Amino acid sequence: MSNESYDHLKFNTIAQHGGQSIDTHSKARAVPIYQTTSYGFENIDHAASLFQMQEEGYIYSRNANPTNRVLEKRMAELEGGADAFAVSSGQSAITIALLTLAKIGDEIITTNALYGGTYTLFAETFKRFGVTVRFVDGRNLSEVTKAINEKTKAIYTETIGNPGLQIADIKAVSKVAHDHGLPLIVDSTFTTPYLQQPIAFGADIVVHSTTKFIGGHGTSIGGIIVDAGKFDWANGRFPEFTIPVPALNHRSYLELNTESAFIAKARFDLGQNLGMSLSPFNGWLFIQGLESLPLRMKQHVENAKQIAGFLDEHELVTWVNYPGLVGNEQYELANTYLPRGAGSIFTFGVKGGLEAAKTFIQSVKLLSHVANVGDSKSLVIHPASTTHSRLSSDEQRITGVTPEQIRISVGLEDVQDIKADIHQALVASREAKLTEQS
Ligand SMILES: *Cc1c(COP(=O)(O)O)cnc(C)c1O
Repeated sequence: MSNESYDHLKFNTIAQHGGQSIDTHSKARAVPIYQTTSYGFENIDHAASLFQMQEEGYIYSRNANPTNRVLEKRMAELEGGADAFAVSSGQSAITIALLTLAKIGDEIITTNALYGGTYTLFAETFKRFGVTVRFVDGRNLSEVTKAINEKTKAIYTETIGNPGLQIADIKAVSKVAHDHGLPLIVDSTFTTPYLQQPIAFGADIVVHSTTKFIGGHGTSIGGIIVDAGKFDWANGRFPEFTIPVPALNHRSYLELNTESAFIAKARFDLGQNLGMSLSPFNGWLFIQGLESLPLRMKQHVENAKQIAGFLDEHELVTWVNYPGLVGNEQYELANTYLPRGAGSIFTFGVKGGLEAAKTFIQSVKLLSHVANVGDSKSLVIHPASTTHSRLSSDEQRITGVTPEQIRISVGLEDVQDIKADIHQALVASREAKLTEQS
C-alpha cells in the first residue's frame, strides 16, 4: 500500500495520503480496516518463505497488519523517520522501545520530569526486570554525562516534561548521547509531529501515546515507535543487532533490515513475543486522527494561548506555566523547539492552595475531570492527588508537582465557553476558602 513517490510531499498532504494509495483490488479510497488475525498462504513454499523471512508479507496480526501498516508508514513519513511499529498503548511503545535495547544488568538514563505512568514503569517494573533506570535533571548536561557508563543503552526524555513542562534541549542531549555511542529516545506525545519533529533535532527513536492528540477524540488506547534509521547499531554497544538469530534464518537484525534494524527487532522480537498488538480498528481510528491532526493542533494551540493569557490575568490564579506565554522562563526554548506553538497542555496554581485547587476541580461543569490529555474536549486534573500521587513529596517536588497545581488540556470548544467555566470554578474555589476560614 505504500507509495514511495509520495516521499517529497509536505506535512498536510502526508497526513492525508502517507502510506496509502487507492486499493488495487477494491478501489477503496479510504484505508480499509483489515480486521483479520491471519492471511492465506499461496502454497507451502510461500508459507515457508514468509516464516524464514525471505520475503515480505503478512502471516499473523500479532506482528503486522495492513491497516496498522498504513498508520506506521504515515507516522514514519510525518516524523521524517525510516519505519515505525504501532502497538497497543503508549506504555507498550515505551516498554518495547527501551527493552529492545536494554536487558537485565543494563542501564537507561532518563530525565526526571516524566509522565506518571512512565515514572512507575521505570522505577518499579524495569527495576524488577533488572534494568536500572537512572533519573537525572535533563537540563543539566554534566549530570546526564556523569550518569553514562559501559552498561548504558539509551538516553530518554519527553519533548515537554509532565507536568512541569520542561522543554527538552534535544540538540544538546542528542550530542551527549551520540558522543558516547548511545541513541536518544524521545516521547513526543505532547507535541505530535505537527509541533515538533524530534528526529530533525537529533533524536534516534520517537515514541508516542497515540491515545492523546493523534487519536484526538479520546476513543482508543494505542502507541507507536518511530525509528530515524540513522543510528549505528554496529558500534560495539549493541551486539544483539549484529549476531545471527535463529528466528531470522540465521541472519542478524542489521542484515534483515538495513533501513530500520531497530523496528525489525522491536517487531519480531518483543513485539512478536510479548504480543502488545494494536487492534486494526484502533489503528484505523488513529489514521482518521492523523488526517485532521494539522487542523486540530493548530486550533488546540490557538485556544491554549488564549486560555493561558486569560488565566495569567485572573486574580484567583497565582501562576501560569505555559512555555508559549511571553515572560515564561522557557519562552526562548519554546521558540526554538516549538515554533508552531507550545502545545495545549499546561499548568496553573489556584489561589488558596490545596483546598482551593480541589474545589476548583469539583466545580468545573464543561471541563471534564479525567486522567487524560489531548482530547478534543477540555480536561482538567489535580496531579498531586492523582497522576503523580504515588510519588513521595520530594519526588513530586523534583518532577514539578505542587499542591495548588491544576493541569489543563485545552480542547476545541469555543474559547469563550472554556473561559466562562474556568471563571465560575475559580469563584467557587474562593468561596470554599472563605467558608473554611469563617
Ligand atoms: C499517556 C502518555 C503515555 C502512556 O500512554 P498510554 O497510551 O496511556 O499507554 C506516555 N507518555 C506520555 C507523555 C503520555 O501522555
